[in-house]
Amino acid sequence: MDCIFCSIAQHKTDADIVFENDQVFVIKDINPKAKVHLLAIPKEHIVTFNDLTMDNFGVMSVLALAIKNVTEDFQIADSGYKVIANNGSNGGQAVPHLHLHILGGEPIRGVT
Ligand code: 5GP
Ligand code: ZN
Repeated sequence: MDCIFCSIAQHKTDADIVFENDQVFVIKDINPKAKVHLLAIPKEHIVTFNDLTMDNFGVMSVLALAIKNVTEDFQIADSGYKVIANNGSNGGQAVPHLHLHILGGEPIRGVT
């Protein structure tokens, strides 16, 4: 399967990996939209939130804790940040492998 995030998960494509365990990894976004822009990604190829089942309960919990971990490492935990998932066409999703954007380091404007 030709998926950039699967390829990074398998260490076949380079990325700036700032956190990794057996289930998830976090990379710096290649085209940052804020001073801190990270992507938290499950290693399993899940496309959108539409595809989640109770089988993914564990990995999504691990993903949440990975986000907590990197926000501390990048010293944005106290100043605050947004966590955003783009889903499908209207969501503006470009990479069809579920990922959570972590944006911080400055005030983040958005629709919410
Ligand atoms: P989406 O619109 O799918 O939510 O966002 C995909 C994000 O992945 C974009 O912010 C884009 O800059 C980032 N991205 C796409 N390809 C790569 C890549 O090969 N490496 C890294 N580090 N980020 C990528
Ligand atoms: Zn994938």
